[in-house]
Amino acid sequence: MKAQRILILTVFALFAWMALMVQANLSTTTQLEADPMVDISATSIKKEDPLAEQFRHVLKQDSKLRDDIMNRFQEYLRVPTQQPKPQYTKVVDFLLDWTRRIFNVKENELVERQVSPRLRVAENDQIKYYIYSCKPEKPSFILTWKGKSPQKGSIMINSHTDVVPVDKDQWKYPPFDAEMVEESTGRRVYARGAQDMKCVGSAYLEAIDRLVQSGYQPDRNLQVVFIADEEIGAVDGWECLSHDKQMMSELNITFGLDEGLASGENEDVIPIYYGENVAWWFEITAVGNVGHGSQFIKDTSTEKIHKLLRDKVFPLREQQQLQMRLQTKNPREKSQPSTVVTINLTGLRAGHTSKETGDFTNPNVIPRTATALFDMRIPPHIDLVETEAMLQEWANYVNGTIRFIEQPKVNPITDLTDATVKKFLNIVNDRMKTELRIFPAATDARYPRRLGINMIGYSFMPNTKVLLHDHNEYLDESVYLESIVHYIAIIKRLLDE
Ligand SMILES: [Zn+2]
Repeated sequence: MKAQRILILTVFALFAWMALMVQANLSTTTQLEADPMVDISATSIKKEDPLAEQFRHVLKQDSKLRDDIMNRFQEYLRVPTQQPKPQYTKVVDFLLDWTRRIFNVKENELVERQVSPRLRVAENDQIKYYIYSCKPEKPSFILTWKGKSPQKGSIMINSHTDVVPVDKDQWKYPPFDAEMVEESTGRRVYARGAQDMKCVGSAYLEAIDRLVQSGYQPDRNLQVVFIADEEIGAVDGWECLSHDKQMMSELNITFGLDEGLASGENEDVIPIYYGENVAWWFEITAVGNVGHGSQFIKDTSTEKIHKLLRDKVFPLREQQQLQMRLQTKNPREKSQPSTVVTINLTGLRAGHTSKETGDFTNPNVIPRTATALFDMRIPPHIDLVETEAMLQEWANYVNGTIRFIEQPKVNPITDLTDATVKKFLNIVNDRMKTELRIFPAATDARYPRRLGINMIGYSFMPNTKVLLHDHNEYLDESVYLESIVHYIAIIKRLLDE
């Protein structure tokens, strides 16, 4: 009987608590709203692009063409650009060589000149390229395909050349051999970077190749950016480039494409990312009473960290998870953290330790300080000033101090009413099922976005398991080839008058 009553009370308390949480009125949290879903289907006019459709048709017939395209993709995947020691010079040589073939550049036609310690350029009537090195060992490659009306501003297609390290033993096939494997569903390439994001970079070049061979002449300038170091925070990649006023003014980018994510297995909706969560990394240090480990010492530093976790951090976590499930209208977003704040405890430090081994040395001494490290991801619609005030209040709650390791104070989103953005959305919506979303992690797009450039994250990978940074990353041949067909239409229509 007693147990039953406790159960009833517990269930009642749980419901009351859930109701409270859904109100999102916890003093520890800021008021959050579900991600606004924008319906772009209404503005869509179905249009076929003759050049893209013709290419799709040719692809079906011509197995040699398919093999050539797959070979180039595999070659790119084989260039060892994994962090922490990506071979950037090799990859820039590879891309430059490919560019010369696409634009049929003669032996001595493009003469490089050193403009500044970090910049080499070469150009002819049709193209210009930049080898831009924030650090001498970290060159990035930028190709300009010159349009007839450069004053209209450039369209950028961006990709990073580096990939994340691998756990070799966990792979079915060597991750840098880019083996083509015959599966029941067709051919598939296994390689690090197959999804993130060499598939995108090489599909850009294949699409440009088709456009050049067809005699197409762009109206606007196209900037094809192959950038270094995205996977380690972009300090010597996009962050450095975005601070170079002269380069940015020369590139004159008005709209850009960057990476997205695979759609998932048995899922053909292509996610279109118009913003991303911002990452805040911070630690809270509590100072407490010290003494001998045999005593009941009050208000110790570790007790305070426990209090912080129990009363502030975990309630916010629970509340945000609940809100993600309950308030999101879109069923596909129910398990995605891009509409709410996530927070994870990613480090703990307290107690006396050996400098050499890191092992604890004094189990009987209560430590004076204890530090907890957090990774917090905040969607663009959350007020960052309010969030900072909340965290400061958390630190005050345990008489502690807060130190930010990473704390971007702005998180702009792409203007969906901008004419070029609308044009892009119409192009993709003519061709595939799409859905606007917020990227759950950080991409290079944040740097141009902070300069006011409208960026969209888009990687065409329908019916593909999301395997970025995972073992056995792969891409189906059919998906890769289809992505090129779409890029032909997308790039052409973006560059048209
Ligand atoms: Zn990536």
